[in-house]
Amino acid sequence: HQRIVLASRPSGAPNADNFRLESSSKPVAGDGQVLLRTIYLSLDPYMRGRMSDAKSYAEPVAVNDIMVGGTVCQVEESRHPDFEVGEWVLAYTGWQNYALSDGEGLLKLGKAPAAPSYALGVMGMPGFTAYMGLLDIGQPKAGETLVVAAATGPVGATVGQIGKLKGCRVIGIAGGAEKCRHAKEVLGFDECLDHKAEDFAEQLARVCDQGIDIYFENVGGKVFDAVLPLLNTSARVPVCGLVSQYNATELPAGPDRLSLLMSTILVKRIKMQGFIIFDDYGHRYEEFAKDMGDWLSQGKIQYKEQLVEGLEQAPQAFIGLLEGKNFGKLVIKVAEP
Ligand code: NDP
Repeated sequence: HQRIVLASRPSGAPNADNFRLESSSKPVAGDGQVLLRTIYLSLDPYMRGRMSDAKSYAEPVAVNDIMVGGTVCQVEESRHPDFEVGEWVLAYTGWQNYALSDGEGLLKLGKAPAAPSYALGVMGMPGFTAYMGLLDIGQPKAGETLVVAAATGPVGATVGQIGKLKGCRVIGIAGGAEKCRHAKEVLGFDECLDHKAEDFAEQLARVCDQGIDIYFENVGGKVFDAVLPLLNTSARVPVCGLVSQYNATELPAGPDRLSLLMSTILVKRIKMQGFIIFDDYGHRYEEFAKDMGDWLSQGKIQYKEQLVEGLEQAPQAFIGLLEGKNFGKLVIKVAEP
C-alpha cells in the first residue's frame, strides 16, 4: 500500500519536498467495508489551496495527512451488501493505491464502463463546473463573444465547446502554439491566443473587435487585465478559478487597479459571480450528466486527457499543472484495471 502525504506546506510554488511517499501493508476490508484499488487519480488546481492553511471554502490537508483527490477505483474486496468485487466506483480516496470505504459517497460506474477516467474530467467535476458556470452564470446567447483561458484544460475546453453549441463566437487563451492549434482545430474555437506573447493584450483587443460579452475566469492575473477594458455593457463574468495566483505569496505589484475594476463593473453593469461547483450546484448534477452524456455520444464535445503512469509521479505532475505543463485533463494512472 503506497500513499503520498503532505510533508510540509509550500511557500510559493510547491516542490518535491512538500510531498512524501509512504508504504505500509495493504488494508483489509472489515465488516460493512469495501477495499478499493485506485486505477485513476485526478490532479486538479484546487489541491494547491488544500496544501495551504489559509482560510478557504474547504479545510486544508493536515501536514502528514494523505493528499486529497478524486479517484476512479475498482472494488477488490467487498464485505458490503451493495458492492460487488470488480465493479467500478468514483471515489474521493486521495493520493494512494488502496483505500477502505464504508460505501458512503461512492458513485457507482458499473461493471465495464466505456471510459472510466472520464468521470474525473468531462463527465465529472471539471465538466460540471464548465457547464454550470457558463450556462447558469454566463447565460450565453447566440452571436455573443465568449472568452475563456486555460482553454485546453478540462474546464476551459468544455466551456468553449458548450459556448459554440450555444452559438457564441469563442476566443480561447492558452499557453503556447500547440495548445492554441488544438483549441482551434480539434475543439472548434474561432480563435485562440497565446498568453505568453509579448503583445497578447493587443492581440486580444484585435480579435474581440465587438468586445467581450462573457469572460469565463479561470486564471486571473494579466489575462484578466487584458480582458477588463474589453468587457461590454451587461457582460457576465463567472469567476471559476484564478490559477495564475495560486502560488502567489503576496499581492501583485501596483498600481492599485481596484478602483478601475469597480468603476468598470458599475458603469458597464457587469455581473461577476464566483461559484464553488458542488456547494452551489450539487443538486443539478443529473441535468449536467444527461446533457453531457448526449453531447459526447453525438460527438459534439471533444475531450483530451493526459495520462501519467505511476502514483510516484503525482507530485511532479501536479507541480507542472500549476505551470501549464499539462496538456488536457491531468490524470495519474495508478494501476492497470
Ligand atoms: P487545467 O487543466 O486547465 O490546468 C490549469 C491551466 O491553467 C494550466 O494548464 C495552464 O494552461 C493555465 N495556467 C497556469 N498558470 C497560468 C498563468 N499564469 N496564466 C494563464 N494561464 C495559466 O485546469 P482545470 O481545467 O482543472 O481548471 C481550470 C480552472 O478552474 C482553475 O482555476 C481551477 O481552480 C478552476 N476550477 C474551479 C472550480 C470551482 O468550483 N469554482 C471547480 C474546478 C476547477 P495554459 O498552458 O493554457 O496557460
